[in-house]
Amino acid sequence: MPNYPSAVVQSGTAEAGQAYPTLEDTYGRRFQYLRLSVTEICNFRCNYCLPNGYQNVSKPLPLNQVEIDTLLQAFSALGTRKVRLTGGEPATRRDLDTLIAMAKSPPGIQKVALTTNGYNLKQKIASWKQAGLDAINVSVDSLDAAQFSRITGHDILPKVLAGIDRAIELGYSNIKINAVLLQQFNVDQLERFVDWVKHMPVTVRFIELMETSDNRVFFRENRITGESIKSRLMEQGWTEKQRDRFAGPAKEFSHPDYKGNIGLIMPYSKDFCATCNRLRVSSEGKLHLCLFGDSQVDLRPYLLQGDVVGTIRAIRQSLPIKKSGHALHDGYTGSTRHLASIGG
Ligand code: SAM
Ligand code: SF4
Repeated sequence: MPNYPSAVVQSGTAEAGQAYPTLEDTYGRRFQYLRLSVTEICNFRCNYCLPNGYQNVSKPLPLNQVEIDTLLQAFSALGTRKVRLTGGEPATRRDLDTLIAMAKSPPGIQKVALTTNGYNLKQKIASWKQAGLDAINVSVDSLDAAQFSRITGHDILPKVLAGIDRAIELGYSNIKINAVLLQQFNVDQLERFVDWVKHMPVTVRFIELMETSDNRVFFRENRITGESIKSRLMEQGWTEKQRDRFAGPAKEFSHPDYKGNIGLIMPYSKDFCATCNRLRVSSEGKLHLCLFGDSQVDLRPYLLQGDVVGTIRAIRQSLPIKKSGHALHDGYTGSTRHLASIGG
């Protein structure tokens, strides 16, 4: 049994025991995956995300454990099967072990994942595993230490890579490495990452740089399309894997001579939104129906009361306003200033 206070374990459980139909929207998309940002704070300064670092503007405190428990009870009653903890940098939260155990606890939640920049992965991964963490994504934008430092503002690539090795030693399979290729900084890394997965049993996922309201000029100067990466992979004999209809928008490629895989996340591709399978909640308790939308629903009034049923109702009522897709092609980035605010 996870080691956190029993008051937290029990809140809302009885009310949420009722079965609700799985969340499905008017476009037939099912939502069994919650991405929960547990903090907006980040210790890195990635040039495409928070180039000036986290700005300590007076913002509400992030959700506390009791609020998070209420939220998780509600999502689990609505058929959520997978929870990803993200941020900002989730590992800056001192109670991350407890949050992982809490996420794993409600009935029906089969998988708890974490997205991290890896700064303390080596020291922490064993206790996260003990708490119930099933999967990790680690952001590594370059395998060249100087480039990594230029992009993230931290000269700690070897430390991050040692954390990944440690996770493999502990038995994590299919670790995902998130990399954003940038025209002016790390374009040469495509080949380097491909070489790397020849022997590394990980999936490197190239995420297309996304435009947000904070990075418009940077976006124009640095965008590399996922389609151009895909063409290079196909030329080298990589083949696209067939994925389940509800598996989400990432495309995955394998190659018989390589231990690892390559993934592509192409938010500008035409079918990206059709396979959307996730809902997001910010660290302040706002439900975001789309990463690039402006419709947010404030769940905090219910979470503050420990009101699982009210939270369930608010989530269900909000789903019909989820749009069929984003409008990034028209330069409309919604209310998201940067991805650190809701976790990407
Ligand atoms: N701090 C953690 C990390 O970096 O892994 C979790 C939060 S971060 C917002 C989640 C992912 O979003 C990272 O892999 C990061 O590279 C990606 N990301 C952030 N801003 C982005 C942008 N403008 N375009 C594409 N990906 C972005
Ligand atoms: Fe922080 Fe992650 Fe954004 Fe980098 S991408 S600044 S690590 S939140």
